[in-house]
Amino acid sequence: MIRASSYTFKILRFDRKKPEEKAQFKTYRVKVVPGLTVLAVLNRIRDEIDGTLAFRSSCRSAVCGSCAMVMNGKIDLACRTQVDSFGKETIILEPLPNMEIIKDLVVDMTPFWAMYEKVRPWLIRSKPVPENEIRQSEKERARIDQFVNCILCACCYGACPVISRDPEYLGPAALAKLTRFVLDSRDERPDANVEEVNSEHGVWGCDTVLRCIEACPKDVRPTDAIIDLRKKLFVKKAKRLFGIRR
Ligand code: SF4
Repeated sequence: MIRASSYTFKILRFDRKKPEEKAQFKTYRVKVVPGLTVLAVLNRIRDEIDGTLAFRSSCRSAVCGSCAMVMNGKIDLACRTQVDSFGKETIILEPLPNMEIIKDLVVDMTPFWAMYEKVRPWLIRSKPVPENEIRQSEKERARIDQFVNCILCACCYGACPVISRDPEYLGPAALAKLTRFVLDSRDERPDANVEEVNSEHGVWGCDTVLRCIEACPKDVRPTDAIIDLRKKLFVKKAKRLFGIRR
């Protein structure tokens, strides 16, 4: 028989409709069998103990990116995090940082989407779109592989220390997405699109402390993308200065 162990879950509770009630931790005691995920526990708390608890979830398999949160100080998806992986009997759950709390573990992702939209996250063509698909070689596809894996969970955005002091900073996910299209053999966006991120709110804002890489549940490396964009801009400037045409 599988033995369940008791865990204490301390969950940060807040409702922005009731700002007079300050954010505070509420404690729940739950019996957990080995291998149960944090998301499964949250569902149980909401269904059986406290129906007022708010959190986001959908796919339950690390594909939709909805259930990103801070668990015992670590940012990750609740659906792929097993309770016993912490090796602790108390689990503290908090919403993603760098975004306003709407309720409990649900944050307002408007600033994240606003930054994402700024980099035009879609294929841009100068030539007419052909009737059939635009083919890519395996090598060309491999260049964008890691960036295509992004599920827009905002774990990197929550982990980024630059956003906490500069809300205008584009952030790791948006810059990684721009790189994804710049590297895409089918994309023909004008250089001006890359020039738009040539600022302290763009590629030069990054502290390169790699917290986004550490937080990403899909092994995307946003800092590498930012360094790539910096190199691109630097080479362009050098060519301009020295009159190199190629
Ligand atoms: Fe999430 Fe990683 Fe995409 Fe950031 S880069 S939004 S952490 S999947």
